[in-house]
Amino acid sequence: MIDLHSHTDRSDGTFTPAELVAEAKRVGLSALAITDHDTFSGYDTAAPLAEEAGLELICGIELSTRYMGQSVHLLGYFPVTPPSDEFRKWLDFMLAMRRDRNNRLITKLQSLGIAITLEDVETEGRTLTGRPHFARVLVDKGYAKDIQNAFDLYLDESSRGFVQRQEVPMDEALERILKSGGVPSLAHPIRVAKNNWDKLAEYVEDLAGSGLRAVEVFHSDHSPENVSYYGSLAERFNLGVTGGSDFHGANKPLISLGTGKRNNLHVPDAVLENLKSLAA
Ligand code: AMP
Ligand code: FE
Ligand code: FE
Ligand code: ZN
Repeated sequence: MIDLHSHTDRSDGTFTPAELVAEAKRVGLSALAITDHDTFSGYDTAAPLAEEAGLELICGIELSTRYMGQSVHLLGYFPVTPPSDEFRKWLDFMLAMRRDRNNRLITKLQSLGIAITLEDVETEGRTLTGRPHFARVLVDKGYAKDIQNAFDLYLDESSRGFVQRQEVPMDEALERILKSGGVPSLAHPIRVAKNNWDKLAEYVEDLAGSGLRAVEVFHSDHSPENVSYYGSLAERFNLGVTGGSDFHGANKPLISLGTGKRNNLHVPDAVLENLKSLAA
């Protein structure tokens, strides 16, 4: 069993890198990709631990890009060679943009009468502070009853606290990943065009022309119908296939590493071999 999509507490998961490696061994994974948002910190920490534990660990990243006027997540995998220093430097720049958004978000929340500081959320988020960390602080301070409620009231795109983060254009993200020896894969396509399957086909065709190499066919949010349709798209546009649970620990409690939601995830081992050949 393999799982090519997971998050540590260095982004918005709740498991430390060590805990995630232990969980991977516990559930019987032979290979795991850590795909934190905007940082390799979790992967870097987990790498020696995975080696010790006899777990194959794949270096990955998940980027929030701007595409067709919406926010689209892009995965990048480095299964053969590690990402370049240039790519790492670029991620630092992304983190700076995120910090700028966080500052503006704090100001906005304060203007809504909420007693919250940058320090509060950065204590929660450490390396990478994102909206889920804001949500936790809002819950702890009694402004929301749970994480989802905090998003609904203050953090969701449609809520009154929302501030825009400058996102990297999809084309640039594709180019950066490719140039650094990585394989870009379209994350959870279910969130890209919702139920408009023709629209999604247009997007995937367009993205394939811009350097996309794979589609995340297997994911905890995908129904069996989704899986077969996304698989057919990958085939039609000559793209590879990736898949994983999108494990976030307690931040997404219904999702289990390796097996997804109620056992709805089965990522074939061949996916990893294929991914390596796409990178070579
Ligand atoms: P950020 O990258 O800091 O803007 O935070 C994005 C993360 O917030 C996503 O990866 C999700 O985990 C979470 N998120 C975004 N919107 C929602 C929502 N409406 N409900 C719950 N979680 C959300
Ligand atoms: Fe996430
Ligand atoms: Fe995502
Ligand atoms: Zn993810």
